[in-house]
Amino acid sequence: MDAKTIRDIDVGGMRVFLRADLNVPLEDGRISDDTRIRASLPTIVNLLERGAIVVLASHLGRPKGKVNDALRLRPIAERLALLLGRPVRMTGDALGPGVQVAVDKLRPGDMILLENLRFHAAEEANDPEFSKSLASLADIYVNDAFGAAHRAHASTEGITHHLPAVAGLLMEREVDSLTRLLDRPARPFHAVIGGAKVSGKLEVLEALLSRCQAVLVGGGMANTFLAARGEQLGKSLVEEDQLENAERIIAEARRKRVRLMLPTDAVIAPQIHQRAKTQTVGIGEVPKDQMVVDIGPETLATYTAHLRKAKTIFWNGPMGVFEMPQMAEGTNAMARFLATRRGVVTVVGGGDSVAAVEQLGLAEKMTHVSTGGGASLEFLEGKTLPGVAALLAADAEIDWAKENA
Ligand code: ADP
Ligand code: MG
Repeated sequence: MDAKTIRDIDVGGMRVFLRADLNVPLEDGRISDDTRIRASLPTIVNLLERGAIVVLASHLGRPKGKVNDALRLRPIAERLALLLGRPVRMTGDALGPGVQVAVDKLRPGDMILLENLRFHAAEEANDPEFSKSLASLADIYVNDAFGAAHRAHASTEGITHHLPAVAGLLMEREVDSLTRLLDRPARPFHAVIGGAKVSGKLEVLEALLSRCQAVLVGGGMANTFLAARGEQLGKSLVEEDQLENAERIIAEARRKRVRLMLPTDAVIAPQIHQRAKTQTVGIGEVPKDQMVVDIGPETLATYTAHLRKAKTIFWNGPMGVFEMPQMAEGTNAMARFLATRRGVVTVVGGGDSVAAVEQLGLAEKMTHVSTGGGASLEFLEGKTLPGVAALLAADAEIDWAKENA
């Protein structure tokens, strides 16, 4: 990455404001997937072992500027303590006199976790005063929150105007892996894209058409493409207002000579339900009272046969309603297929597709599984992420400061 990282600076005895992305899914107050916490460990451990004083901060959920007891970071502190094998202290707020006192007591190698940054509306507003107050807690700023880098918030952007800023190890790995995919992917480069909807993924689709040799479509999104081609899909999720966009993407793929592949068969069910009975039919044979809930075995075979030629594969979006076991085979089989590729760069990005890979315990088998969710998609669209841009700009400033020291 073209920004300095924690490896480039001396952190011993320094107070480090570490912005991590500890925004994990909670179910009834319990962490249902701690991937993001585990992914944040290398930077935390590195800083602590080198004698830094770590002020750790994150957001959780969308409390919209108000204190929300259900979104306190307590469960995260507990999980961190478990993973680190040492107690993790917390503050009762992200800011205030109490926080200052607690931070002042810390010794080299100590860490404290601040309460949810988004309890303050000033965080998402990127309020300069709030940024300055956060900065006053530390000597150095480290951003390891790639998953929040697509937002210009006080703790991801504003704070970099007040402290020397460098990237954490996760930030570096995410940016490097995704940059490689954007700039110099080994070819053929094929993308598998699914998920619920076309809307929200139009820009990703267009970016992929400019870079890939084939785009294989699955999930609910495929329905809209098939409907644009005139197929009858019964009760399936079809975005009527995206039919024109789907047609445009199909035409664009043809013009760019990118192979846009659509399902030829499907798993169908009368509704999305735990006990819904499923069957497999060809596209064009979906009854009026049934809906497409997964790609079928023929589609899976065609897709995987095509993907065998790829040297780089990017996957975003499940192939079906993978939350229901009888509708998960397309997604699970795709994950297993990618996990067995050797000598192929396999990158998975997106909240639900990553969750599917994690659930199957196959994350280690991929070249890179992005913790970024929306941020990884925006990165692949070629957009500048404010959190990343701030680190690059800060890098230039650090050099300047050194020359004038
Ligand atoms: P990601 O988070 O990986 O980017 P999305 O959020 O776009 O993926 O989509 C995930 C959702 O899409 C899942 O909740 C899944 O149930 C849903 N989905 C996939 N296929 C279908 C389908 N055929 N019909 C309805 N929903 C679907
Ligand atoms: Mg999602």
